[in-house]
Amino acid sequence: MLKYKRILLKLSGEALMGNDSYGINTLVLNSYAEQVKEITDLGVEVAIVIGGGNIFRGLSGVSKGFDRVKGDQMGMLATVINSLALQSAIEGIGGKAKVFTATKMEPVGELYTKPKALDALKSGFAAIIAGGTGNPFFTTDTASSLRGVELETQALLKGTRVDGVYTSDPEKDPTATKYETITFAEAYEKKLKVMDLTAFTMCSENNLPIIVFDMNTSGNLKKVVFGEKIGTLVKK
Ligand code: UDP
Repeated sequence: MLKYKRILLKLSGEALMGNDSYGINTLVLNSYAEQVKEITDLGVEVAIVIGGGNIFRGLSGVSKGFDRVKGDQMGMLATVINSLALQSAIEGIGGKAKVFTATKMEPVGELYTKPKALDALKSGFAAIIAGGTGNPFFTTDTASSLRGVELETQALLKGTRVDGVYTSDPEKDPTATKYETITFAEAYEKKLKVMDLTAFTMCSENNLPIIVFDMNTSGNLKKVVFGEKIGTLVKK
């Protein structure tokens, strides 16, 4: 039995690099495409927001002397590049995907509106929503929480390279343990890094559960939508 019928999948740009130091790793990209197709084939409605950290982040531009707004716009364009790559990979294996963009960019993608994205989801397309929120000073974590709430998804699935939320950084602390479930309040009190605070607050205030899980292990996405207890569930 499917637990989640409509989800927002947040993919980090950084995870798309795989073991590379920059850009798109095709093995990771193809694994993402296959995992997405696997669940859309099962009838799950999948909206996707991808980051751009594998290509460009606004803040790293600032350190090189770029204007912050320009840097953030470059970062948002990086998310469009990743979104097109994922669309192409999904289509390449016979799946259906549409790219929507936060700002006008036809013919690269259709301008995002809620009704158009819902139409796509209901017609079995993965709706890849590119370009972040369209505004500087935000992140794709925030864009994913916004679209997740807006599209009335049942959960925000944060697919990364780590397999959940830990008591402390497992790379630095060997005694760190993973939470199976944690409330928004406890995660906030303990200052645990789930998503950035703007995104975290958006999810918390709108009661959108977050599941942090390792998307770089093939088959995990399907496990999550079937309600298997992998990763960490953050809820009210
Ligand atoms: N960005 C932005 N507004 C948004 C979303 C993203 O300005 O609504 C820019 C910002 O510069 C960010 C970059 O796009 O650094 C890439 O997004 P993000 O860092 O969230 O990617 P991720 O960490 O998930 O790879």
